[in-house]
Amino acid sequence: MSLECPACRSTKLMDHGRKFPVYPAGCVWILGFPIAIFHQGQTPHQLECEECGARFKRRTLLARINLAGLVLVAGLVLWAIASVVWQLAFAAEAR
Ligand SMILES: [Zn+2]
Repeated sequence: MSLECPACRSTKLMDHGRKFPVYPAGCVWILGFPIAIFHQGQTPHQLECEECGARFKRRTLLARINLAGLVLVAGLVLWAIASVVWQLAFAAEAR
């Protein structure tokens, strides 16, 4: 997968890496471990063009797969919460 500058099409790019090379532990506590893994995996790399100095972000193929995983896990969590809430509401109605 070759990347090029969106402004000048140069392929001479500097990779500044991810915004958070080490994932903030606080987010793991808030989001939960599975979501944090995917969230860290999908973080785009910050790139800088050596020709014109333009800065932009790109997700690698692996990051896109992680993004899909993040959506899937987040969807499962929301579905689990929704089903619990729905069951509680249904149980309350039956009483
Ligand atoms: Zn450029």
